[in-house]
Amino acid sequence: MISYRIDVADVHAHLFRVTLTVPRPEAEQRVSLPVWIPGSYLVREFARHLSALSARQAGRELPLRQLDKASWLACCDGRSALVLSYFVYAFDTSVRTAYLDASRGFFNGTGVFLRVHGREDEAHALAIGPLPPGWEVATAMPAGARRRSFRAPDYHALVDHPVELGRFWRGHFSAAGVPHEFVVAGALPGFDGERLLADAKRICETEIALWHGPGAVAKELPFQRFVFMLNAVEDGYGGLEHRASTALIAARRDLPRVGVAELGDGYVKLLGLISHEYFHTWNVKRLRPAEFASLDYTQENYTELLWFFEGFTSYYDDLVLLRTGLIDAPRYLKLIARTVSGVLATPGRKLQSLAQASFDAWVKYYRGDENTPNATISYYTKGALVALALDLRLRGGPAGKVSLDDVMRHLWQRSGGGPISEDDIVAAVEAVAGARRGATLAAELRAWVHGTDDLPLPALLARAGVKWQNQPATLAERWGLRVSEGALTGVKVTAVLRGGAAERAGLAAGDELLAVEGWRLRRLDDAAAALPKASAAQLLVSRDQRVFTLALAERAGRGGDAVQGAVQLAVDEDAGAAARALRKAWLHC
Ligand SMILES: [Zn+2]
Repeated sequence: MISYRIDVADVHAHLFRVTLTVPRPEAEQRVSLPVWIPGSYLVREFARHLSALSARQAGRELPLRQLDKASWLACCDGRSALVLSYFVYAFDTSVRTAYLDASRGFFNGTGVFLRVHGREDEAHALAIGPLPPGWEVATAMPAGARRRSFRAPDYHALVDHPVELGRFWRGHFSAAGVPHEFVVAGALPGFDGERLLADAKRICETEIALWHGPGAVAKELPFQRFVFMLNAVEDGYGGLEHRASTALIAARRDLPRVGVAELGDGYVKLLGLISHEYFHTWNVKRLRPAEFASLDYTQENYTELLWFFEGFTSYYDDLVLLRTGLIDAPRYLKLIARTVSGVLATPGRKLQSLAQASFDAWVKYYRGDENTPNATISYYTKGALVALALDLRLRGGPAGKVSLDDVMRHLWQRSGGGPISEDDIVAAVEAVAGARRGATLAAELRAWVHGTDDLPLPALLARAGVKWQNQPATLAERWGLRVSEGALTGVKVTAVLRGGAAERAGLAAGDELLAVEGWRLRRLDDAAAALPKASAAQLLVSRDQRVFTLALAERAGRGGDAVQGAVQLAVDEDAGAAARALRKAWLHC
């Protein structure tokens, strides 16, 4: 068996030591470290943190040849076991690589375990060496016979089970008869673990029912144990999905607190993250792009389908919170309105389709810069709105009884929880919508995914008894600017939106807005008070140590700056009977 031992070598130097034993190696045995972690579409070149790689056989040092940035060849003599050892520097608090200090350890296999070429499909064993006093281990990897030992059926499973080490909070619940574990590192003493467990359980049960129908039992689920590992930090947000676990990062202040019953926005965001990552256990870990049927760890793996796997997952994450009763319809509509407003405030939606955004994730979404809003659209947010539009179209059909849930279940059952293509998704929509409407909905879906027109959401939401209103545009929206503001830093331009007044005036990302009409600015909204004429302004700007003035003028009327304020959505009490019925089925109100 291919076996790995990982030791906490030096917590202060943030070093893990890994020892890899390969029985019966090839004469020229190739090993490599992945360059990316599935679920996060960026080449991260984990090998840059690997050092002091050495190879031995029967106690003798072997020559190693480095082939590229992440691959090595060990020249073996005979068939006695090859033993490789190396250090991995681990000081990334994100969920994507590895971390080690005196308080906590964490690793993903993609960042620490060399892959033994030609042997990926054999069973792999993991042993974790002695830990600092009081430290425990949490992972969904099945346990082996000995303490701190684990077994994976192949390399892909080995690297799809992250491991949390340390003195963390730990709780349990059961959903559909499947044991679920929740570990939280870094929580404050007042953290309300029981509430987190109760809320997570409701989310899990709702999603299990969505995929497998109400009353589903353990043996119908694609996993027999699940582990949430949450790292609470001062500031942070994110998650990464795995086949039987998820690694999450969230702000400490967003955790529920004992004695505080109120459901704050921060906690709703955390519940949305839990809901999102758990949904991925079906949607992307099993149901997945045909291109991910087998993964290539050495380079980018392209797919046009992230609008479905990330976007539809993003639609369901908050919708599940509504279905569990954790949030109500007005609060849910607020979350959708924020997504709608974000998409409409992104000029890049006119340039890039969702299919293109998915394909280009590796060089665009994951490498965002000041030009990102002008050149790209997020397959998370617009993908979620396509799911919303499709759900409303399905629910609005003459039969009235079908929804996007039926499409998801149809895909799951047809594929056996495996790889799917865009044609499969479209075929599922056709099958669920029925012969008469299927072709129309299929054509609409293709146009939404491959085109750049705005989605017909105002009309679809009106037909679902939801009112759409635009708030007055803020100054930043009228000028086509995104800024960061702070008492010490002042007003700093983070992005200049395509075709807006700020772009015409010559503002650029990174500029400091020092003053407007001779008045010092601390916040952009202060400018409104200093402006004698609302549509034009003299700006004092600093860029690269120089200070200069720019004249900004808004264009009104036809052909002018088409500026809209944020969208507000609300339950329309005056909606007709058909709209009310649709809304009741969708929002339960
Ligand atoms: Zn996701």
